Amino acid sequence: AVVLGIETSCDETGVGIVADGRLIGAALASSMDEHARYGGVVPEIAARAHLESLVPCVEAAFRQAGIGPAELDAVAVTSGPGLATALQTGLAAAKAYALAWDRPLYGVHHLAGHVAADTLEHGPLPRRSVALIVSGGHTSLLLLGDLARDPIVHLGDTRDDAAGEAFDKIARILGLAYPGGPAVDRAARDGDPRAIDFPRAMLGAGYDFSFSGLKSAVARHVERDGPGFSVPDVAASFQEAVVDVLTRKAVDACRAHGVDTLVIVGGVAANHRLRRVAAERCGAAGVTLRIPSPRLCTDNGAMIAAVGGLLVAAGAPPSPFDLAADPSAPLTRASLTPDRL
Ligand code: ATP
Ligand code: MG
Ligand code: FE
Repeated sequence: AVVLGIETSCDETGVGIVADGRLIGAALASSMDEHARYGGVVPEIAARAHLESLVPCVEAAFRQAGIGPAELDAVAVTSGPGLATALQTGLAAAKAYALAWDRPLYGVHHLAGHVAADTLEHGPLPRRSVALIVSGGHTSLLLLGDLARDPIVHLGDTRDDAAGEAFDKIARILGLAYPGGPAVDRAARDGDPRAIDFPRAMLGAGYDFSFSGLKSAVARHVERDGPGFSVPDVAASFQEAVVDVLTRKAVDACRAHGVDTLVIVGGVAANHRLRRVAAERCGAAGVTLRIPSPRLCTDNGAMIAAVGGLLVAAGAPPSPFDLAADPSAPLTRASLTPDRL
């Protein structure tokens, strides 16, 4: 199936076209720079930027794919979770296109999109897998079956900050550029990950996570050392604490559930140290590790098209045209169609 995917849940306008599980066209626009001086995403600014970027992105994706709307089988769109005004912009565009081109519409869960991004590079997921989603708003360990058909089981979630949120807050404490994740990742390359022994919260206590205590520990350390602290050492030691907890729990979950494949997705999956340590620990445990390329880890349209492709292939019913944005949709299945199955 050939599916167009639209993603506007946050500050990235993403459009992707997927043909039989293969990415054939994509375009991305970001309003990130416009939010930088506010230190976080401003919903109204994001929504206006989506409005300006959507049509040019759709046209660019078609141009790259070398096809036209006539060759499309379906339109998929993120219907939640995310910023309400931002989601509504993408939903309105997707409905207009689906109606104009007379194609079915599929509402997709943003986090299922993050998972499906991996299939564009590494093929279909095995019958069972464990997924670690580490993004700006979420940190979850999931037990997956067939992404299009089976319910998604939560093994654990963060009790406070998401992993990406922790990176962004630590970057602010260290005076690094917005957005913080890539900046901390870069600074950490020149630091010693063992310089400071930051706390590993909730290790050995199930699959939930907590990062707010780590954030406070970093803030206290920086205050105590005054202007004399080493940014690279703090960045590397903080990053090590996050990566240590994430990878230990993910590999433990695979072992406990007899699953031999771990897939790590979401913006934080772009982190160099996380990729490295996860590869080492999965290798030692005999677990196959799948992580998409960095550009497919952060928000994009192709990941939404990928879910759409899986839903069409599974014969899932399309979403109704009165599909509404669901800013806090829980992740229980890939499609947000209310009456599915
Ligand atoms: P969600 O998917 O939970 O709704 P989101 O869509 O805003 O949130 P993503 O786009 O998946 O999140 O990821 C963005 C997050 O990833 C930000 O917090 C960013 O700092 C973090 N991030 C991006 N690159 C890196 C990196 N190299 N190292 C660590 N964190 C990173
Ligand atoms: Mg983003
Ligand atoms: Fe995301």
